Amino acid sequence: MKKTFYILALAFLGFASCNDGDPFNGQGMRPSLPGVSEAEIVGVQEAKYEPRFSELYLYWKPVAEELKASFLGTEVTFVTHSGKPLTTNIMRDKNFPQGYERIAVATKDISSVIYRSIWRNEKGEQIFSDYCKLKDLGLDIKNVNIGPDETFTTMHMPEWKETNEHVGTPASDLYYQVVGNPPYSYYEESLKILCGAMWFNENDPYRQLVEMDCWFKKTNDPGIVAYVTGSGNTTIICIGQEAVEGLIGKPISEARAEIDGVCYHELTHTMQVNNLNAADEFNKQCFVEGGADASRLICGGFSEAQRLARAKIAVAKKEDQTENPKQAPHPWLEAYDPSGFFIAWLRRYDGDFWRKFNYSSQLITSGWTFEAAVKLIFADNTTVAADIAAENCKNDILRGLWRVYKKDVESETVSE
Ligand SMILES: [Zn+2]
Repeated sequence: MKKTFYILALAFLGFASCNDGDPFNGQGMRPSLPGVSEAEIVGVQEAKYEPRFSELYLYWKPVAEELKASFLGTEVTFVTHSGKPLTTNIMRDKNFPQGYERIAVATKDISSVIYRSIWRNEKGEQIFSDYCKLKDLGLDIKNVNIGPDETFTTMHMPEWKETNEHVGTPASDLYYQVVGNPPYSYYEESLKILCGAMWFNENDPYRQLVEMDCWFKKTNDPGIVAYVTGSGNTTIICIGQEAVEGLIGKPISEARAEIDGVCYHELTHTMQVNNLNAADEFNKQCFVEGGADASRLICGGFSEAQRLARAKIAVAKKEDQTENPKQAPHPWLEAYDPSGFFIAWLRRYDGDFWRKFNYSSQLITSGWTFEAAVKLIFADNTTVAADIAAENCKNDILRGLWRVYKKDVESETVSE
């Protein structure tokens, strides 16, 4: 049975593509478990790269029907977004069958990627295939805009409307310079990009909007840059006139980056499931507002300098606070960028983390918490288990991961 598959794999990959033993010598990389070279490697059918999200997708060649149940997952070694080598195992999980046919790897360095397949043998033990360096496969890896080009090409679009209370003013002119007039195709494209980041494909429970009214109005509150609201079947996205007025005179690239970023955040709210059953208000805010900033970051709505400056502020906070009951008890539960950037960072362990995070709202139908979502998504991830154990947080997964995050952020510098 295995023999057949081995021959097939060789036919596709050729001998040269796969290396025996440990290819990490001298590279500071480590396999998560001692290498066992007796199982076959699952071949890569196709690889695609999403430059906006800095995510690589490896689509597997078909695995013979009788072997499918034994194909447990993939161990992948690569350089993370912060430039450090990491080995993680991304397991095939019946909770997330959308991820069966491929894995996503959060990296900017495709040439760093090495993987091996994880199987279950007759005794029920995990065994590993030989390693394969992606760059040795000679694949033609194309850049794709995953949402608009691949996963959300035919997504349901609302009927569009527009309400602009400031037509003809300099702020309105700047708004239109960025979003177009009317702004509908801008919003359609942004929604597809965003859904490509948030969800696996159109079968996922993104929200099918009936009518969307794009407002350009004053928010009459200096603290509110933009918002999403609704009335009956109409969803309203309001970009605040005051915020755009504040961008007049700045370089157009800067104004564009800010408006794009604000739109990604707000549009995330229009696509978030509305049936989240959260355990408490902090976890709800982490999902809703942390999630919107995670989306904004992943879609490129914050510069690297902005990301790092905010992340450094977040990780400098103390782990526990009980003085103010209105404030989140831990920084990882704090709404907006503290939890949001942490969520985006968790893609290092599984490039589909953000997609699985959103989908977790369908699997944890009562009392959703960030912790329950992370436990579900990383249930079989030995790297996560080892990382939190090294932080003495075996039974406190978010605290443990936050400490790893803190070290990673503190080690980063950005020249921009
Ligand atoms: Zn928001």
